[in-house]
Amino acid sequence: MDWLDWQFLNAHAEHTQQLISSSHNLYLVFTAWLVACAASLATLHMVERAANAEKTAAKTVWRWLGASCLAVGVWAMHFISMLAFESSLEVHYDLGITIGSLGFIWMGALLAMQVLNRLTLSRPHLLLAALIFGLGISGMHYSGMSAMHSNSLRHYNTTTVVLSLILAVGASYWALQMTISMRSTQGLFHHVLKYAISITAGSAILSVHFIGMWALHTFSTSGDPSQTHIQTNHWQLALMIAVMTLLLIASSISAALVDKKLQQKEHDLVRVNALLSQLDAARMLLQQVAHYDPLTNLINRRGFNQIFAEKLTDCATRGGKLAVMFLDIDHFKRINDSLGHDAGDELLKTIANQIKSAARSYEDVVARFGGDEFCILINIHERDEAQSMAKRIMQTLKEPIELAGRRMVMTTSIGISVFPDDGATSTELLKHADLALYQSKGNGRNSLNFFSPNLTTRASLELQIEEELRHALNEDSGLFLHYQPIFDLTQRRVAKLEALVRWDHPTHGLLAPDRFIGIAEANGLIAQLDNWVLRKACQDLAALTQLGWQQLAVAVNCSALNLVRVELADEIESALHASGIAPHRLELEVTENALMGNISSTSALLRQIRALGVSLSIDDFGTGYSSLAYLKRLPLNTLKIDRSFIQDIPTSSQDIEIVQAIIVMAHTLHLQVVSEGVETTQQFELLSHYGCDFIQGYLLSRPVPFEALHTLLEQLNKNPRPTSDYATLQLSGQ
Ligand code: C2E
Ligand code: MG
Ligand code: MG
Repeated sequence: MDWLDWQFLNAHAEHTQQLISSSHNLYLVFTAWLVACAASLATLHMVERAANAEKTAAKTVWRWLGASCLAVGVWAMHFISMLAFESSLEVHYDLGITIGSLGFIWMGALLAMQVLNRLTLSRPHLLLAALIFGLGISGMHYSGMSAMHSNSLRHYNTTTVVLSLILAVGASYWALQMTISMRSTQGLFHHVLKYAISITAGSAILSVHFIGMWALHTFSTSGDPSQTHIQTNHWQLALMIAVMTLLLIASSISAALVDKKLQQKEHDLVRVNALLSQLDAARMLLQQVAHYDPLTNLINRRGFNQIFAEKLTDCATRGGKLAVMFLDIDHFKRINDSLGHDAGDELLKTIANQIKSAARSYEDVVARFGGDEFCILINIHERDEAQSMAKRIMQTLKEPIELAGRRMVMTTSIGISVFPDDGATSTELLKHADLALYQSKGNGRNSLNFFSPNLTTRASLELQIEEELRHALNEDSGLFLHYQPIFDLTQRRVAKLEALVRWDHPTHGLLAPDRFIGIAEANGLIAQLDNWVLRKACQDLAALTQLGWQQLAVAVNCSALNLVRVELADEIESALHASGIAPHRLELEVTENALMGNISSTSALLRQIRALGVSLSIDDFGTGYSSLAYLKRLPLNTLKIDRSFIQDIPTSSQDIEIVQAIIVMAHTLHLQVVSEGVETTQQFELLSHYGCDFIQGYLLSRPVPFEALHTLLEQLNKNPRPTSDYATLQLSGQ
């Protein structure tokens, strides 16, 4: 066994006292150092835990545990070191003072933990904390020393005591500073630093103790001190204290490590939960995008199909009825064409809300299939329920809507099919509701229809008509023109004839343009059809010229689809050339919505046509949404007020005012005005009174075949203001 011999010169050598030699048990000294290092390590762990704990109570617990580890560790180190002290004196320890010395270091340790809990620390604060902790260590040491009782005199070397105090405070300052710096390190370096700080701090604490011991000079009072060291069994007590302290420290470190792991797990759990909720949100968004229409927030076709399939299965098992309602906004395209797509979108949103408000909120499914097409699914007991729901929707939609500074009334066409009467599968029911809708549109819109089996034949009938129209155009057979006079109120004579196409169908007889113009437009036949009408009208006018009608002009209708074809100007020129008609005797009628479609390209084409000398007329004025600014930019000559404004004159004072305003506005824009659909003498008189330039309508004549024109023209020019008998005759005659 090694001995550490410490002999100090007696400061009182001139007296009789003899300096007592002492030594330390090296193994116990090492144990004490180990305990001090372990206590430092445990404290560093607790500091970290206290910093990372999320709850205030947990922070306090870790701070107290850290302070306890440090205090008990330092105290145990001190006590073991004292027990390592061996001399010829018999030494006893005062238990009260020994335990009491723990109080010093505990206070210091608590303060250190408190200080380390702060995020930032100024240098003076750090210095103060180091001073208090250093004094705590020294206080504990010197009070612990005073617990040592023996038959000797003890003196302290002041310089050495001061040195021990400086070391205690200096080491505390360094340890506190390093612990704060350690916060910003990570990984392996962090661990290495932690162990390095622990070892250095442990060594410093031990050094403070031994410098303190160095300051102690023990003298024998008997004058003949035995130089033989008394064999003690203090090492057993020392080992017991070391083991107990190390156990306390080890369990505290284990608790800290377990807590760290648990916290990491908790964080992982929180992260996983956050990720899961993010995933959930993303899935919901995908679901929303996949099944909902972003504009109206209604479900889309895909979402509808899914619900439809579920409802069908449910109905099939329960034995209930299900109505599928297809809904299409009448003339929606006009809004988009004239007011722009933003206004169109705004209108769709309003309409979607109106439909939703008319539906039964929980049971009914309202979907937007795209464009202006909506579909509604309702559980019913009787077909009448579907009908009243459809009527309710139609009524709601009729409420005026404010859009782009205008108030407008929209109407809707509805087609209904019912499960199980009209089909067993969703595809079949949707197809049948669509056919019913088609019929509603065909009946002049703003109406509702249930599916009936003969509608399927209607669809195939349209296919057949398309084929036959193609044939009629290619063979130039069956198509012919009727002419309706347009009477000039100023010159009191028929000034123009409007050419209106008719088709003598091989099986269906005489067909009005409404029956086949749409089909021609939908199937790419309209250009050919309009060109045929144009050439024929020019030829007929040439023939009328031969009969003496040199002043007469002809007005030809032009489909909106034709206005985007650059060839149109060439075709007009060619028709004029072939018939030898002067360009000013030809007028092209285009609807206002056709003009509004693509204003820049349309206006370029119209200018080209105007440059030929041909007149341009805006047809069905008032039914579209054209703006005056646009009208001003177009090279127009005539404006035809739509029949719908004339038909209620003179009963509707509002219509009278509108017509008057249109006439004034048109004249301001240097446009001549034609009133369409004049059927009564009252209308005739009022319109001529308001300054209308031309009159067209059944009052003067229905559209008549070419052969009847000569007589009709002569008759009208002779008697422009027919009597009511004449009007009645005309109306009933054709
Ligand atoms: P539109 O150009 O506005 O022609 C006037 C329509 O009103 C004609 O119907 C005419 O018969 C009808 N009408 C005239 N006066 C009266 C009246 O006093 N009372 C009533 N109730 N109706 C009157 P129609 O011939 O059936 O033509 C319908 C529409 O078909 C035309 O309306 C025009 O847009 C289109 N259309 C006619 N022929 C052609 C053509 O050759 N090409 C193109 N693209 N469209 C044509
Ligand atoms: Mg017309
Ligand atoms: Mg018209």
